[in-house]
Amino acid sequence: MDIRNNRPQGLVTAGQRAEVMRQGNASAVLRAVLAHGPVSRAEIARHTGLSAPSVTKLTSTLLDAGLLAELAPLESTQGRPRVPLGVDRDRTVALGLHIGLLRTTFGLVGLDGTVLAEGELGHGELPDLTPDRIAEQAARGVESFLAERLGGRRLAGTGVSIGGWVDGARGTVVEHGPLGWRDVPLLDLLANRLPGPLLLEQTVRAIARAELWFGAGRESDDFVLVFVGSVLGAAIVVHRTVHRGPGAAAGAIEHLAATDDPAVRCPHCGTGCLSVTATDTVLVAQARAAGILPAEDEAGDGRALERLIESARPAGTDAGDVRAQELLRTRARRVGRAVSTIVDLVNPSRVVLAGGILVADEYLDELRAEVARRSHRGPSVAEDIVPAVFGSRTLVRSSAVPVLERVITEPFTALGLV
Ligand SMILES: [Zn+2]
Repeated sequence: MDIRNNRPQGLVTAGQRAEVMRQGNASAVLRAVLAHGPVSRAEIARHTGLSAPSVTKLTSTLLDAGLLAELAPLESTQGRPRVPLGVDRDRTVALGLHIGLLRTTFGLVGLDGTVLAEGELGHGELPDLTPDRIAEQAARGVESFLAERLGGRRLAGTGVSIGGWVDGARGTVVEHGPLGWRDVPLLDLLANRLPGPLLLEQTVRAIARAELWFGAGRESDDFVLVFVGSVLGAAIVVHRTVHRGPGAAAGAIEHLAATDDPAVRCPHCGTGCLSVTATDTVLVAQARAAGILPAEDEAGDGRALERLIESARPAGTDAGDVRAQELLRTRARRVGRAVSTIVDLVNPSRVVLAGGILVADEYLDELRAEVARRSHRGPSVAEDIVPAVFGSRTLVRSSAVPVLERVITEPFTALGLV
């Protein structure tokens, strides 16, 4: 959001222009501290190109606003000790809320992307998975969570993420197959139930934005994030921007070819695509059909995937269930085939993997080998396929990122300091 949008066009005064510039410079300081911190004021000046007096003024404003913190002084060779600055992770926080198929998870996330407190609500106890029911459960859970855990911190807003086809700008879930939702005005449903402002992002894009600010994006401006979990999706990041396209429909990878096995055919596309071979849900169904897991989720906690992985590598022994291992290996290879298609089409600097696929990370080399075998980039592509920095449990942090991003890019507007 541009702060000038609130004013009639063409009537931007010199004072307002100066304010926009001051906010832009404050954001540059925050970004420098996030990227290089802890850093001294002199180093901030070097990274941002701002003058030393400007940096002194801006850092003092950001310290007062509780966005930066002075850390323990370092010994200096030239008399005065250097006081490094870091981002204050504990005074301004965002609430991140992720609506999954099996559960809603939420938590408080600090300005540097640290998850400070988390909670979750299983959907198993709900009579149905309608948007209203899930919104109501989330509102109740979040209310008591905040009463207990927020303390004296300032809450900058709530970031909500959900899988499927999401148009964040409109606040709408266009389609979520597994939940059976279509054209759900999710932000309207949550508007009076969660602390605002509310921002909605699609899960995979939210994870990509978290990686961009706090993870893989610190080293790479162009990457494709591939999420393989109970949902599938990709986020294409080019020049540090997530590509969305018309209707925010970019990144659907469900029907990329994954196997030629004639026994596996998707009812929608007629091929052995990712959606019928590679999701966590498919993997668990295969494990049940093979008798590796009981036919029903006996514990009713939705942790069947974890149980499958435990049986593939039981703690304290090498003797895992070879059938479980083979299922995980086959999935890794099938995902590898689809990733090779993405690599050849987009040619990203990195492919960042996220989701349930990371839980059994010992099979990632098989995935890499399959990409290397198929991609025209050849064997060297394998080293550019990396796990997400935040691993498989990153949903709360990612959900909060759009709110944190707003604080980082427009600190004064986001915190009402203008
Ligand atoms: Zn298909």
